Amino acid sequence: MRPSLIDYHLHSQFSADSKADPVQIIEAALEKGYSEIAFTDHDDQNPVDVQAYGELAQDAYRKRITELKTAYEGRIKILCGFEAGEMHRFPFRGGETDLLIGSIHRTSDDVNLSSLPEMPFSTGMIHDYYEENLALAEAGGFHILGHLGIYMRYEKEIPGITPWKPVIEKIFQAIIRQEIALEINFSGVRKPLGTVIPVPQILRLYRECGGKLLTFGSDAHVAHDIGVGHAQAFDIARDCGFTRFHSLDKGTWQEHSL
Ligand SMILES: [Zn+2]
Ligand SMILES: [Zn+2]
Repeated sequence: MRPSLIDYHLHSQFSADSKADPVQIIEAALEKGYSEIAFTDHDDQNPVDVQAYGELAQDAYRKRITELKTAYEGRIKILCGFEAGEMHRFPFRGGETDLLIGSIHRTSDDVNLSSLPEMPFSTGMIHDYYEENLALAEAGGFHILGHLGIYMRYEKEIPGITPWKPVIEKIFQAIIRQEIALEINFSGVRKPLGTVIPVPQILRLYRECGGKLLTFGSDAHVAHDIGVGHAQAFDIARDCGFTRFHSLDKGTWQEHSL
């Protein structure tokens, strides 16, 4: 049987980096056979981001997604979620949410590791990136750890992870302890990298550490990216030894077969 299609990482025009009407996103998801999706528009409190992109229009976003939840009831389940960057340094102030992704986009001195670099990221930046993920994981207060290893997205080959294994293991211990899920972000399948983030080596490490909770997210910012790479992401998860993935229902994890 084909696994249920659930996408827990989607951006719409409420994010500064997307122009997608949420209706277009929902219609594309319905067309591809999705049973459940979560809007996770950016809510960054990092002053660097607030200055560059402004703040998420919280009230308008919640109102619109709530209207659409009702309008599409019985056809597709819709969650109103958020993706918060560096929330261990700049706490999320959005109150109650259906789903909250905690992500690191920037190093501790605010170098953005999630966009196309002008120069290769230095070893120091990558070290700092994982340390920031560890600080975020230990602080907790969110449901899903987003795109661990996002700095690899524009690489043409998977970079080595050996130096970072000890810190990645600590990140996993922290999220497992708090029942925070690990996201398999398949935006990397659409990019030169050609695989999921975290990359398979890191996914295997998660399983070896005892990690079970997994969600899938396209990180789509346009409707035509919905579903692209999801089948490959399922295959990779199975190859790495996982047999289940998860969705969130009123704060409780639900299991699905892979
Ligand atoms: Zn992100
Ligand atoms: Zn995102």
